[in-house]
Amino acid sequence: MDVLDSACALEAKQTAMALSNHFAAQPKQTQLKSADECYECSADIPKARQDAVKGCQFCIVCQDLIDKGKL
Ligand SMILES: [Zn+2]
Repeated sequence: MDVLDSACALEAKQTAMALSNHFAAQPKQTQLKSADECYECSADIPKARQDAVKGCQFCIVCQDLIDKGKL
């Protein structure tokens, strides 16, 4: 394994760690509060939807695609 290989392996390890920390922290936020904007496309999520769907993180369009397994 050369220097570049080990650098790549290290970076992948750090990325995986950061991602798992990020997703581990996520459920707590979703229970507390709906997102103002969609996590997927950054569209504004209407206040009515934020109130109706507690902890929603996606706009209607993206949520629909997620429900259908397309995202
Ligand atoms: Zn969206």
